[in-house]
Amino acid sequence: MTQATTDIKLETNTDERIKPAGRAHPSRSGQDALLSVRNLRVWFELRRFGFGHAGYVRAVDDVSFDLNYGETIAIVGESGCGKSSLMKTILGLHRPTEGEIFFENRRLNDFSRREMRWYRTQVGYVQQDPYGALPPFMNVRRILQEPLIIAGIKDPAERETRIRKALEEVKMSPVEEFLPKFPHMLSGGQQQRVVIARAMILNPKLLVADEPVSMLDASVRVEILRLLRALQQAHNLAVIYITHDLSTVRYFSKRIMVMYAGQVVEQGEVNDLLSNPKHPYTQALIEATSDPDAANAMKFREVPPGEPPSLVRPPSGCRFHPRCAYFIADVCDKETPPDFEVGPGHLARCWLYR
Ligand code: SF4
Repeated sequence: MTQATTDIKLETNTDERIKPAGRAHPSRSGQDALLSVRNLRVWFELRRFGFGHAGYVRAVDDVSFDLNYGETIAIVGESGCGKSSLMKTILGLHRPTEGEIFFENRRLNDFSRREMRWYRTQVGYVQQDPYGALPPFMNVRRILQEPLIIAGIKDPAERETRIRKALEEVKMSPVEEFLPKFPHMLSGGQQQRVVIARAMILNPKLLVADEPVSMLDASVRVEILRLLRALQQAHNLAVIYITHDLSTVRYFSKRIMVMYAGQVVEQGEVNDLLSNPKHPYTQALIEATSDPDAANAMKFREVPPGEPPSLVRPPSGCRFHPRCAYFIADVCDKETPPDFEVGPGHLARCWLYR
């Protein structure tokens, strides 16, 4: 292990509050939650031509969390950690292999096509790439009409009113100027505002934002994050904010979950977790985050050695053990750690806290 990584401070486990918490969040029953995810697994079968079944990609493996009305949660992790598969399963685009998802106490796993249509009116989706998300042959009016027509709003006057209101809410005014424009006639920031207007037009209770600013110019990112936060507060919207960029998390979210190799390795309140990370992977992720301070901008920042593991054959025991500087022999590579409560509402899936 390199010097910078071993410099990471790990506190000795002397806190009496630290105790095993099991797999579900200990302080949340899920009964009053808007969204409740329980022991979710999303595995994709691998098939090799001529050889049939060749294993599973364990994209999401035993994830549990609750999200209340009006609450924001950030899901962070490297590419391939499972956050996109988790998001798509919550959106109803993948089926759970195991486990359950409840929305307002209704079990998503059992939804009929009709119920799924209703569910899609309750959940808005903001994609990462606004240009790819917008049909190039439709103008802004048509793009915003589509979800209203699918939701059965037949009155053209009502549709027009809602379209104009949605555009005003995302600060695209004068509205007349934007209604006839096609996506290629808009800037990246304006395209993302249309994507957000489309996600909000049915007045959803939950918004899933998948890296909503990562493909935008730095100057536009703050404006879009401000817009999302203003909408979240105005509509008491629950938001799942998916990102690999820790620097935006504190601004946007109150809670955070850190994913590694298909599992949540740490979760808690944002300020607590970012200022006092417990899991060695979270600590390394924070260390590797670029520093806006010019004095440190050129400083070489350490990342854990090695690569994220294969999700087809993940490491035994703790999935981070091949890269971990704090590896405990005969434990970390043998037994999967449960969540340990390392502070109020702060969980870490690591044997250091047993
Ligand atoms: Fe490292 Fe062991 Fe903790 Fe995994 S369980 S992060 S290998 S100390």
